[in-house]
Amino acid sequence: MPPSHVLVLNSGSSSLKYQLLDMTRGETAADPNPDPDAAPERKATGIVEHIGEPTGPADNTEALETVADELAARGAGLDSPDLAAIAHRVVHGGTRFTRPTLITDEVVAEIENLIPLAPLHNPANLTGVRVARRLRPDLPQVAVFDTAFHSTMPQSAARYAIDRTVADEYGIRRYGFHGTSHAYVSRRTARLLGKDPSEVNVIVLHLGNGASASAVRGGVCVDTSMGLTPLEGLVMGTRSGDLDPAVIFHLTRVAGLSPDEVDILLNKRSGLLGLCGDNDMREIGRRIAEGDEAAHLAFDVYTHRLRKYVGAYCAVLGRVDAVAFTAGVGENSAAVRGAALDGLEPLGIEIDAVRNAVRGSAERLVSTDTSRVAVAVVPTDEEREIAQQAYSLVRP
Ligand code: AMP
Repeated sequence: MPPSHVLVLNSGSSSLKYQLLDMTRGETAADPNPDPDAAPERKATGIVEHIGEPTGPADNTEALETVADELAARGAGLDSPDLAAIAHRVVHGGTRFTRPTLITDEVVAEIENLIPLAPLHNPANLTGVRVARRLRPDLPQVAVFDTAFHSTMPQSAARYAIDRTVADEYGIRRYGFHGTSHAYVSRRTARLLGKDPSEVNVIVLHLGNGASASAVRGGVCVDTSMGLTPLEGLVMGTRSGDLDPAVIFHLTRVAGLSPDEVDILLNKRSGLLGLCGDNDMREIGRRIAEGDEAAHLAFDVYTHRLRKYVGAYCAVLGRVDAVAFTAGVGENSAAVRGAALDGLEPLGIEIDAVRNAVRGSAERLVSTDTSRVAVAVVPTDEEREIAQQAYSLVRP
């Protein structure tokens, strides 16, 4: 048997998440190519936290060694002959990387050049890449970029209306993030409707602690809500999403905040947290039930913004076949789904209150039978998508 395992690494500044997936899909001589979308088998999954803190591993090298030990204990260490590739999640691919890419020294250098666009994420991702390459220099290693799925956006959606020379010199444009999730969920939604992704137009709402919307036409992204960085767009756990850029000038000139202080305010102390002191939608739900007004307002601002984006992307797509909810809030909060789509019947979107209220982890439809636009709940699986993209590059 040729090697069929892919180790997916998501290397952050203080944590290292991993999953080992077996990409063989019951291939036999008679049927060498079964369902290309069939779920791979998850062999191992885990997270090493508190990297660089007193309670955790000293650095990323030690963290990956911990992962290697955990995998070895299951008989699937880094030296396993079954391992076909290591796949690395990399947040920012700029305009250079638009598909999964085999990692070479040159690719590492180019990801490094993109650090100014993602100063928190790319360095941590790169550390994971470096350590993994040191441990298994002979093994194909693949970078899968969060921005890649959005690289198909037309200029009309990707460009900001600012001075062209400045924009081009500094790479200022809409890149978009959560790309592997939007790719995966839009495709699964098409399958849920019994259609080929190329036939279906989907609005994907990825609502986790970070949140983004995308408009996907026939499997191709045509617009997304996050921009140069993950700050733009929807209201998030701790990020403001859209605001008048002049708020920043005002805060620096009138309130005397430094650029770094504004950065922290908008990225870490805004969104749901800024509005009501909580960033967890479960807690906000509890507080609303107790009549808490700040929590209620936070919920209303959050769902109003969502509704605006759904309307906007209906206009962008023209014909919409489905709205798909995913990630922590999207998969679990019936209240958010209901409020976000409330009043959109004129757009052909009718959510079914009973179906919407049913909890579950399966892919499912929560629209009425008469709804012109299907409303779907599709649990995301970024690791599976990353592994699939990486495997498609290295499979024998
Ligand atoms: P994620 O980033 O996809 O892991 O999503 C995390 C967020 O999902 C948390 O901050 C919560 O706000 C939200 N969440 C998780 N479970 C639930 C739930 N049962 N109901 C409402 N929100 C939830």
